[in-house]
Amino acid sequence: MKKVLVFMMAVLMLAALAVAGCGGSDEKEAGGEKIMRVGTEPSFAPFEMQAEGSEELTGFDMDLIRAIGKHLGYKVEISAMGFDALIPALQADNIDVALAGMSITEERKQQVIFSDPYYKSGLLVMVPKDNNDIKSIDDLKGKRIAVQIGTTGAFRAEKVEGAKVTAFNDNGSAVLEMKNGAADAVINDAPVLKYFLAQGGSEYAKTVGEVLNAEDYGIAVKKGNDKLAAEINKALNDLKANGEFDKIYNKWFGEAK
Ligand code: GLN
Repeated sequence: MKKVLVFMMAVLMLAALAVAGCGGSDEKEAGGEKIMRVGTEPSFAPFEMQAEGSEELTGFDMDLIRAIGKHLGYKVEISAMGFDALIPALQADNIDVALAGMSITEERKQQVIFSDPYYKSGLLVMVPKDNNDIKSIDDLKGKRIAVQIGTTGAFRAEKVEGAKVTAFNDNGSAVLEMKNGAADAVINDAPVLKYFLAQGGSEYAKTVGEVLNAEDYGIAVKKGNDKLAAEINKALNDLKANGEFDKIYNKWFGEAK
């Protein structure tokens, strides 16, 4: 009897050691579940935004990362923060993934790893509907431009000669500044401005000129986390191959890509 007990205890201890040994990976596990902590900035419809009448975040990016998480066996937990806080949060290991219509740029590539591109975008200028002087970015010299802090739109605005650039924490505030007559223009991503105009913004605003820089969106992970980047790329490929990506794309943009 005693021998059996000792044997059982030894087996239990070995099992405990085996479980503890699995903790060596960098995945966060809770109750045996793999967790993917995602950071986003939800003032960027139709990519990420607050769902009406719910706490939930919705949008193309949100559907995409939930599908990626499901495909890879992760429970996806999404938290909201300022756009300029996303890369620091990755670096501090507070989140595993940053997904916020983030353009892949050389500067950011020094700080994070980007997945393969998942959406083709670019910048556009938006002005009040009744403004007939500003026809393109070239007419913004010396003008007041409202942007979101830390975005490629903000960086582009800074390059406009003599412009007075005001950076806001969220896109809504930048647009409001223009609506209130305190800014002459907003520079933001083309799909977001187009969505905004289609949702009622065209009552008082319009876009002018051509789409400026071509930019690709990527999913960012911490430098060194090549394993997660590779997993995400694999999931993106699989979801494109099995039609799931197109389904999500069509839901938000209405045409296959
Ligand atoms: N695509 C732009 C950037 O990466 C804007 C992103 C955003 O405002 N969420 O800077």
